[in-house]
Amino acid sequence: LEPKEEFSHKTLAMDVMRPRHSDPPLSVITQDGMSVEEVENLILDTSYSGFPVVVSHESQRLVGFVLRRDLIISIENARQRQEGVVSTSRIFFTEYTLPQPPNFPPPLKLRGIMDLSPFTVTDHTAMDIVVDIFRKLGLRQCLVTHNGRLLGIITKKDILKHMAQIANRDPDSILFN
Ligand code: ADP
Repeated sequence: LEPKEEFSHKTLAMDVMRPRHSDPPLSVITQDGMSVEEVENLILDTSYSGFPVVVSHESQRLVGFVLRRDLIISIENARQRQEGVVSTSRIFFTEYTLPQPPNFPPPLKLRGIMDLSPFTVTDHTAMDIVVDIFRKLGLRQCLVTHNGRLLGIITKKDILKHMAQIANRDPDSILFN
């Protein structure tokens, strides 16, 4: 991100975050209860670099963020090396796993690969502040919440695309210093 380009104060995180209104909802993983197969399908069906982990679909409370590549490696390893991990095994990002019913395959614990404090802003955060944080912390992505509920995600590329759009449409809305 080039430091000379600044957003006008009018642009908010909600204007840049994904999903847009017409997009499919954010792809998230729940902290307990998803099967190995469900997570593998999510990986196959999408190309996102990472997935927010939430308490539940209903609550949309953010627990952490997990990178796609770490998920792929961990599931592959577990399938090869960990006794009994199969498609129906449950994946847990929680500290403790629920006791599995008898005859259930052993769970797969993946808390260790989750970023427990992904950077978040609210949907009303001004984009010039978001850009500043991206630069200073070298972020690749940041999550957007509203009243503690996960709403969306902003990647570095989303910001660059938005900057380019603004530059084409309305050069005066970017402040050059
Ligand atoms: P990049 O923006 O560098 O291509 P990604 O491939 O992770 O990074 O994201 C592609 C697009 O999808 C971006 O616009 C981003 O905001 C959005 N996105 C990223 N992760 C998710 C997700 N888990 N669910 C829905 N959309 C996402």
